[in-house]
Amino acid sequence: MPKPLLDIKNLMTQFTLKKSVLPAVKGISFTVEQGETVCIVGESGCGKSITALSVMGLLPKNASIASGSIDFNGTELTKLSNEEMRKIRGNNISMIFQEPMTALNPVFSVGFQLREVLINHMNISKREAHKRGIQLLKQVEISSPEKRMHQFPHELSGGMRQRVMIAMALACNPDLLIADEPTTALDVTIQAQILELIQDLKEKFNMSVVLITHDMGVVAQVADRVIVMYAGEIIEEGDVESIFNNPQHPYTEGLLQSVPHVDAETVTLEPIPGSLPNLNDKITGCAFHPRCKYVMEKCKKEKPSRFTMIPHHKTTCWLQEVNRDDPKKVIN
Ligand code: SF4
Repeated sequence: MPKPLLDIKNLMTQFTLKKSVLPAVKGISFTVEQGETVCIVGESGCGKSITALSVMGLLPKNASIASGSIDFNGTELTKLSNEEMRKIRGNNISMIFQEPMTALNPVFSVGFQLREVLINHMNISKREAHKRGIQLLKQVEISSPEKRMHQFPHELSGGMRQRVMIAMALACNPDLLIADEPTTALDVTIQAQILELIQDLKEKFNMSVVLITHDMGVVAQVADRVIVMYAGEIIEEGDVESIFNNPQHPYTEGLLQSVPHVDAETVTLEPIPGSLPNLNDKITGCAFHPRCKYVMEKCKKEKPSRFTMIPHHKTTCWLQEVNRDDPKKVIN
């Protein structure tokens, strides 16, 4: 079997405050294969963005990787210097964010910013970079690309700014694109167009994509595989069909029920009660137990083990060893 493009093992990322250390990502492991789209899903604050920033080497100043490894195509990213990591970013791994204005510089034209990326990473002339910039804008289906090169970010719509960000991310043909909530700030129609664009480009360039989202509708549209995170841990992982048709973890079940279901007359929505624990909350046993409708005594005391009850589908939940309808009955 070919080696995965990205292989994360026991990654722990923490925030260091004046008097305490807060774990944000608690020893997670997962892989991303060549050409695969993996969606990392969970509520805000579950650790999904910090996981992405750990891979990119873009953690905030007070955060750091405490342990674990991030193998990208045979290179151990956690051991690289800032300079080596800068080369990987843009050349091999690119990231797009929810709000393009945080990544685009408002005082420079789109063309200037695209040319800068191309000149820095591809070592080409300004003239070549300009031509390549226009091609990239065409690739992300921006109309009148020559004209857009001279415009400033504030002169473009939200959807168009996100397309420019994607063009910049693709500038050096990355092997891996990480997209953190890329469509959350956009309206539904534009959202669908951007997701379709990411999928098309992924297929065209045989990239791998890690898409971070809280929206199971987005997951359904693009994922090959799904990783569900809760309180800094992976609590369920599987192929998209398996996760949607046969969710095993109560939290995943809750996420799926919190997507609007529309029948002929009504729209139903069942939000998950309660909220995600804070990073400094000390919860024994299963971190989801205060919110779980299936909670058992064991859940409050012991951290759940990882079970693989369905092939390629792993779940961290004690329900896997009992009968859901009769929690006293152990499944053999
Ligand atoms: Fe619920 Fe227990 Fe499973 Fe945690 S381990 S999700 S509390 S049933």
